[in-house]
Amino acid sequence: MPPKHWADLDHEARIEALAELGLPRFRVDQIARHYYGRLEADPLTMTDLPESARVAVRDALFPELMSPVRVLDADDEETQKTLWKLHDGTLLESVLMRYPDRATLCISSQAGCGMACPFCATGQGGLDRNLSTGEIVDQVRNAASTMQRSGGRLSNVVFMGMGEPLANYKRVVSAVRQITRPAPEGFGISQRSVTVSTVGLAPAIRKLADEDMSVTLAVSLHTADDELRDELVPVNNRWSVAEVLDAAAYYADRSGRRVSIEYALIRDINDQPWRADLLGKKLHRALGSRVHVNLIPLNPTPGSKWDASPRERQDEFVRRVIAQGVPCTVRDTKGQEIAAACGQLAAEER
Ligand code: SF4
Repeated sequence: MPPKHWADLDHEARIEALAELGLPRFRVDQIARHYYGRLEADPLTMTDLPESARVAVRDALFPELMSPVRVLDADDEETQKTLWKLHDGTLLESVLMRYPDRATLCISSQAGCGMACPFCATGQGGLDRNLSTGEIVDQVRNAASTMQRSGGRLSNVVFMGMGEPLANYKRVVSAVRQITRPAPEGFGISQRSVTVSTVGLAPAIRKLADEDMSVTLAVSLHTADDELRDELVPVNNRWSVAEVLDAAAYYADRSGRRVSIEYALIRDINDQPWRADLLGKKLHRALGSRVHVNLIPLNPTPGSKWDASPRERQDEFVRRVIAQGVPCTVRDTKGQEIAAACGQLAAEER
């Protein structure tokens, strides 16, 4: 784990950490205003702190968590992908996507991923380690600061980068709270504009539902039958499609939010018309109108046997899911030419 950072600590721990440096508790709010409000992580610029304390605060609470290794632009600079190097050399990625009406940051919750989905670049490399809360939160601060410098505002955060967010549960929930609390305790991004994705860790989905947050839950289902899902999403061997959909329905009940179902459409693997019918039926039965399907044309990883479905297959799939009473759209695939499948850039760098 990285050295201790401000964002790893709760309010009481911050008071204690400052007391150890001889600073009174009101400095907690002052520093928080800089970090979450001004998006500044260098205490040397915090001029309302006593000059003599700035270096001590930096050394104790604001280690440099990540430095950019590569920054790639695509889609006329509307998409920016950053590869970060962490203090121990671990690589992670985040992607900033600018749309006319919003700016969305896709962040990583783990370095690598232990879920081993065979069509995913990250899954091939295994799990390096969980990210700390600070490493998750600081991806957001960096992007929010980039947006602020260009006169915009970061409006949405999706946990869809490297890793399985619910496998790093406590740190992800703490990060979500810091992302969504109003300033000066957080970045003030609306909970409804934050999406936490999962491959279907059913007990953790239920736990998240009990946190009383209204973040969007996105379940990467990829097929509605257990036989194929056991292969595409190996964790299905532990929690079946039925268990995952039950947990998703519980989440929809508790949060009052529609659940998003992610489905990477893979040629001749999970794109058959009967699979579209089955998906629509099962979702309608489990979730009624509280669900939306996002089809993702697969972005094939280099050298992989998996490929995207042809356009006609995709259109037919959408039509059939909708015919079962379930809304279904195809996700815009910004950043394809800069290796936007999660983990692809890190895999290339390795
Ligand atoms: S698809 Fe997601 S959960 Fe599966 S291996 Fe890749 S990063 Fe992990």
